[in-house]
Amino acid sequence: MNVLTVDHLRLGTEHGVPVKDVSFSVGEGECVGIVGESGSGKSLTLRAIAGVLPVGVRVVSGEHDVNGRSAMVFQEPMTTLNPTMRVGEFIAEGPRARGVSKADSVRRAVELLTEVGVPDPATRARAWPHQLSGGLRQRVMIAAALAVEPAILLCDEPTTALDTTVQAQLLALVDRLRVERGMSVVFVSHNLAVVSRVAQRVIVMYAGRIVEAGPTSEILHHPAHPYTQALIAAIPTENERAGDLTTIAGAPPDASALIEGCSFAARCPLAQETCRTVLPPTVEVGRGHAAACHLVTPADREVLV
Ligand code: SF4
Repeated sequence: MNVLTVDHLRLGTEHGVPVKDVSFSVGEGECVGIVGESGSGKSLTLRAIAGVLPVGVRVVSGEHDVNGRSAMVFQEPMTTLNPTMRVGEFIAEGPRARGVSKADSVRRAVELLTEVGVPDPATRARAWPHQLSGGLRQRVMIAAALAVEPAILLCDEPTTALDTTVQAQLLALVDRLRVERGMSVVFVSHNLAVVSRVAQRVIVMYAGRIVEAGPTSEILHHPAHPYTQALIAAIPTENERAGDLTTIAGAPPDASALIEGCSFAARCPLAQETCRTVLPPTVEVGRGHAAACHLVTPADREVLV
């Protein structure tokens, strides 16, 4: 059963179309990662699902359907936490909104802080947001999200501002909660290595479109789209120094740019004349694995991988 279905979603602004035609689904208890550079439309897609689109962005067409409640965790908890509220009160707002008594809501907040691994939760519930570390604040945000008993947790770069050790702990927490609660997760990040640690399936977005989607191991080991291949090449290895890092030359097109063909053509080393004029179709390249590139067909997939 799908907990989330997104069907031909198109988002527009006064200046352009940052999300052009996005369709995907998320099953019960499944984590789907959405990866892409800034401007790919990944966060706007998530915000459209959560119903919290920024001012000036609207749904032009398409729809989404969530089977149950959703809750969202943002990149920077300090912009969401209320600085004038103790974190326990903040978390208790969820149960309170559902008619739970004040005393029971506060008890529930402490239980949730325990569930997300906050040490000494009864004391921490009385702390102000600024008294907690970045990692603890993000755990508080996750606890607040869980307080509405969501069927699906929408995570928008929740670990990006954290150091690698705390990041790894947060990823392990999201994965544990998914398994223990049978909860679905959509995890958005610009970092494919991060996404691959929590997601069973990965969606790669570029310039407002899905360019590749498939099981995480397929995406990592048999990427079919040149952009995904470039993203993988850009993942730093342990021995790589900052100056040695591989990058993708150029920048994604602006959302207002009118591009007839493949949006990646200006940066793609394999681009051909057709790429600049004809939108590539999405082609199945394996079980549950598809890519949108003129050079990818089921028969000659080996050419690119
Ligand atoms: Fe590159 Fe052409 Fe494929 Fe686009 S369609 S990714 S430009 S080869």
